Amino acid sequence: MSGFKGIDNLIRENIRNLKPYSSARDEYKGTGGILLDANENPIGSTVDGAYNRYPDPRQRNLKQKFAKLNKVLPANIFIGNGSDEAIDLLFRAFCNPGKDKAVILPPTYGMYKVSASINDVETIEVQLTASFQPDVENILAKANTKTKLLFLCSPNNPTGNAFAEERMQTLLNNFPGIVVVDEAYIDFSEKPSMLRWLDHYPNLVVLQTMSKAWGLAGLRLGLAYANASIIEILNKIKPPYNINSITQKLGLEALGQIDLKKRMVTEILREKSKLEDQIRQFSFVQKVFPSDTNYLLVKLDDPLGLYEFLIKENIVVRDRSRVVLCEGCLRFTVGNPDENEQLITSMNRYPST
Ligand SMILES: *Cc1c(COP(=O)(O)O)cnc(C)c1O
Repeated sequence: MSGFKGIDNLIRENIRNLKPYSSARDEYKGTGGILLDANENPIGSTVDGAYNRYPDPRQRNLKQKFAKLNKVLPANIFIGNGSDEAIDLLFRAFCNPGKDKAVILPPTYGMYKVSASINDVETIEVQLTASFQPDVENILAKANTKTKLLFLCSPNNPTGNAFAEERMQTLLNNFPGIVVVDEAYIDFSEKPSMLRWLDHYPNLVVLQTMSKAWGLAGLRLGLAYANASIIEILNKIKPPYNINSITQKLGLEALGQIDLKKRMVTEILREKSKLEDQIRQFSFVQKVFPSDTNYLLVKLDDPLGLYEFLIKENIVVRDRSRVVLCEGCLRFTVGNPDENEQLITSMNRYPST
């Protein structure tokens, strides 16, 4: 097993040879003028607001702003209809259906495996260690010319911990395919983003999202940062107008509210630490795992008993009790102060025997 040998060795032949769709807005990039090239409705929209024109297929304004914010170039940024779109496109770009494979590290985010299955790509599962860290030796032992993608979710969903950077670097240095680091929860973590290694590793893809800390889950705005040659491939195969006008407009607006985002993160983290202390007090709680995220993984005597009880109380948490290494666990997203108080009040009424 040896390390990464360039994107040209990984990209699917049909994608390399693909002549991408050229949209009206690709062929004429100017602004203004009489636009009679895209078969749009020239009169207006059937709702309030002007949505009769197609959105910018390259999302130039948004990319400018993300580039500045993260000290990368627009050419290093792909914007997707949620991170889930970027995950799917990575499979389509690099994994030949029925032939190539992806390595995932359970327990982790479920979309990697679903997306792999949709694309008829086999997943090789290398369980995290008991301390929820990547088992580097085992991962590299399973790697070969067919393992095109490796998914590292850091901080990891559902365990809540960030991976040791040294382990991720060893994987970046030795894995023959692309290493995707999913940083959906990075805003809640004290650990730095892997983005600063972008120039150093041509096989690094960093996923981020506006669905969590930025509070825009409903808008669907996910990002992939990588070497320009990887981004070029994703741009080539994405649906031309994948980010709609409202999402582009409000995404841009949100990027002007970094302070508000930071204040919300601070409040969520304060609530998390309060919640952690309170949950730990219950006799039926065995363990609250350390968390670099906006949720807590909690090990319980009778997880399903508490889950059903909370449902009756109108409180919904995530049952992870049947997930490998998470046996006995529920996942609690940190709510607002009111919601957290109601959760604790309810748990106080839960019979401990
Ligand atoms: C929530 C989450 C995402 C976000 O996905 P979007 O499609 O951007 O909403 C990505 N990765 C992980 C691990 C998540 O938990």
